[in-house]
Amino acid sequence: MRIDKLLANMGFGTRKEVKQLLKKGAVLVDGIPVKDSKTKVNPEMQKVTVHGEEVVFKDTIYLMMNKPPGVISATEDHVQETVIDLLEEQDQILSPFPVGRLDKDTEGLLILTNDGQLSHSLLSPKKHVPKTYYAKIEGVVTQEDVDAFNDGVTLEDGYKTKPGALSILHSGEVSEIELIITEGKFHQVKRMFEAVGKKVTYLKRIQMGGLKLDEKLKLGEYRELTAEELERLL
Ligand code: URA
Repeated sequence: MRIDKLLANMGFGTRKEVKQLLKKGAVLVDGIPVKDSKTKVNPEMQKVTVHGEEVVFKDTIYLMMNKPPGVISATEDHVQETVIDLLEEQDQILSPFPVGRLDKDTEGLLILTNDGQLSHSLLSPKKHVPKTYYAKIEGVVTQEDVDAFNDGVTLEDGYKTKPGALSILHSGEVSEIELIITEGKFHQVKRMFEAVGKKVTYLKRIQMGGLKLDEKLKLGEYRELTAEELERLL
């Protein structure tokens, strides 16, 4: 691949800016300055440095985002802001997409990757990957609700859910709960509460499989997964 395209793809600036870097002699390929932007390099075989720093080429990307409310879990939309719009340009280059969907008003853990295999295995109904949600519920959540969720509840369309592990954190006018489910039906948590006559007023995903939301991430912030986190997910 041409060196200017490669470095632009890696986020070193526009092609024009990369050309300037090359002209200044800031880019070395196997220790030799390369000034011609048309020079072809093979990033798997050759070592490229910019200002003395080795450029680490990658073709996969794994991000965790604390999704804010008000944005949709899609890659493109003509009207509404998407989670992809929240990514820096250099992180959009490898075309990540969200693994599954959170509703527009739901917050919390969203994985974004371009690894179709990982996405498939996290979402596959056969794998039963547990997802943990924190929610606020209008009204008192009771032990009967816990038992009903444990048996599986029947949604309004007749579908009986798999068991959900419901823990009551606080029961009152506004209750707080944690719920672990292994399915990902459309609006599942909200519909499970509707099935027992209650309304979710706030929803946040806090864990998916072995991956917990990094609470240091503010709403709308994201970061790359560490090697250890990725290992736990795979
Ligand atoms: N369940 C819901 O109802 N909404 C979400 O966004 C995720 C799970």
